[in-house]
Amino acid sequence: MKGHKSSFTMKIAIIAHDGKKAEMVNFLLTNLDLLKQSDIELVATGTTGSHVAEAGLKVEKVLSGPLGGDAQIATQVANNEVDMVLFFRDPLGKHPHEPDIYMLMRLCDVYNKPLATNPATAKMLFKALRAKS
Ligand code: PGA
Repeated sequence: MKGHKSSFTMKIAIIAHDGKKAEMVNFLLTNLDLLKQSDIELVATGTTGSHVAEAGLKVEKVLSGPLGGDAQIATQVANNEVDMVLFFRDPLGKHPHEPDIYMLMRLCDVYNKPLATNPATAKMLFKALRAKS
């Protein structure tokens, strides 16, 4: 999907706010078979990444969200290095890095990247992925 990688490789960014990390891990565990495919790469913000790794997946970790991780993932989106973003946001929480969160979502729209902000949407995106693989 990108110039610098094999045309079959797909990179998925994973981010979950604290109140949504358990749901994210649950979602990933439900889809372990798909995510363990060698042509799928994962990148995650720091703490989310630790949870993803504990779930048994290989993952590239960037900084924790409040320390710039969302901005780093936004950069990967802008550089066309990420094909899909799963960002389980906690709409009931306050986040010091709100501007970074909006930047990431805005860049997904600028570059037309699939963005799931809740498990129901992520489930539909993965259904589409499964149909393709
Ligand atoms: P975290 O960051 O994975 O390091 O907790 C996520 C976020 O708050 O955006």
